[in-house]
Amino acid sequence: MKCEKCSDKGNVKSTYTDRRYCDKHFMEMISKRIRKNMRTSKEIDVKREYSLVRTTPHETKIAKHFLKEIFNGRLKTKETSNPTKSTPLIVPRSLDKEAKEFLEEFLENKKGRQTQINPLRVVLEEEIKEISKILGIKYSENKETNKILETMEAEYPGTKFSLMKSMEEIRKKQK
Ligand SMILES: [Zn+2]
Repeated sequence: MKCEKCSDKGNVKSTYTDRRYCDKHFMEMISKRIRKNMRTSKEIDVKREYSLVRTTPHETKIAKHFLKEIFNGRLKTKETSNPTKSTPLIVPRSLDKEAKEFLEEFLENKKGRQTQINPLRVVLEEEIKEISKILGIKYSENKETNKILETMEAEYPGTKFSLMKSMEEIRKKQK
């Protein structure tokens, strides 16, 4: 099986787009998706400094990789484990984790927290796993899963993305 974009072998299969990519084009596809989402949400101002919250080691490293690429190294971030409120926070978490949290808030009728800046909110956990492999980063399995969400995603691929979109809309209205 060949890559969608070139004649190389398509090692990575995206279940979301149902296409195969070589490592290089897989990374490019993800980078474009993150860039598009960040541009639409207009939440980054390169004149400011941001705190990059250490979530998991692999998510932190992956976020750094893409932020560096997308902003050509112009974005100032400081890694932190103890975020303070004085600088805006970037909290890198996979789409799966965001969608799960939102679904549970919704089902339990809890008031949702404010949307955080998260470059990885458009990246599926399985994609995070592939990216870790490509970048040579140690990946730790996601234990925050939700059975309903996983069943729905298996039955209707794209469910997590739709949930994330709804979440963004609803949280915007709550502000
Ligand atoms: Zn390719």
